[in-house]
Amino acid sequence: MKALSRREFIRTAAAAAALPAVGASLLRADQEFTVNGLPASVLGRTGLKVTRISLGGVLVTEPSLLVKVIDEGINFVHTSAEYTNGRSLEAFGKAFKDKGLRQKVVLAIKERPEAIDSCLKTLGTDYIDILVPPLTSLPEFDDQSLPEAFEKAKKAGKAGFLGWAGHNNTTEAFRKGTQVGWFDVTLMSYANIKNPSFLEAAKQASQAGIGIFTMKGLPKRNAVGASEEERNTYTTLCSSMLGRQYSHSVLASMGSFQSLDFFRGMLENRLGYFDPGLEERYWASQEGSYCAMCGACEKVCPEGRFVPPIIRYRMYWRDYGMKDYARACYSKLERKAPELSPGRLELCESVCPRRLPIREMVAEAHALLG
Ligand code: SF4
Repeated sequence: MKALSRREFIRTAAAAAALPAVGASLLRADQEFTVNGLPASVLGRTGLKVTRISLGGVLVTEPSLLVKVIDEGINFVHTSAEYTNGRSLEAFGKAFKDKGLRQKVVLAIKERPEAIDSCLKTLGTDYIDILVPPLTSLPEFDDQSLPEAFEKAKKAGKAGFLGWAGHNNTTEAFRKGTQVGWFDVTLMSYANIKNPSFLEAAKQASQAGIGIFTMKGLPKRNAVGASEEERNTYTTLCSSMLGRQYSHSVLASMGSFQSLDFFRGMLENRLGYFDPGLEERYWASQEGSYCAMCGACEKVCPEGRFVPPIIRYRMYWRDYGMKDYARACYSKLERKAPELSPGRLELCESVCPRRLPIREMVAEAHALLG
């Protein structure tokens, strides 16, 4: 299948919108526009114009990489104080201080509003455009202290929009975050995208004006050194999220100039390459190995809520090579693998739609991270 030009992509996506199986596309020819010459989207009701591929800073350690990302025209960047032992945030701060690049980007930070002062200091800025604190359970969405703290930060001129980062029970989280009414944005895991209920929740969120930028919808392996088929898989998955699955921007982890080149090239020339066979094969290959973050295990027992994060931190260690970050995340868990009852884990396994060997994965996670 050949790559389509950006204009052809718009047409293809619009044609795809007519297919009842995939729902309506958000891409319409009259919405086509660029930022810095690159395909861009309006991030829901924030009105912010962002490039359709954004920088995930989880692997960033050097300011020069961020400088290059911005020089290349990507204008939406995300990081957290937790990434690369704090080096990512420091690298962002150095890039912003030394090069005056802060005003050229929409900056999203995974942090609660109460804790942004130290981030602002490290970043050398007085303002964060979007806060996306991780919310790991549904009751957290009803916690009024979050929007109240955000309003204070907003009044103080320190933050622009409130969102949330969603890794757990993602269909319900999408619904809940849309329903409560105080979120403008979500950084959402798309690992559950083959579930029609999840896709419907994404559609509802988008129609309600939530700006959606997506993670966990691409292969776990770093794009650098990928085979031709793997590169095509990255591209078709990005095209699908953007053209058919309501994402406004795909957050791509870039830890090197090569990975920047890959995603920048895709953004400029290849978005719209769409191969449904590759997409199906990719998701089929995740059976038995990749947690969909669907929340089914959480529904059958209270201990189930610890399973997806433990499996995810194992993935960070094994598949992403983010060993320190994985250990740090695991160390903060309220319950570790040995504290989970084998009987309950067996129950989790019995309902897991991905047929994950949960007991084995959890035990391995503890051996690596405990
Ligand atoms: S472990 Fe299985 S059931 Fe639990 S969230 Fe992951 S995919 Fe869903």
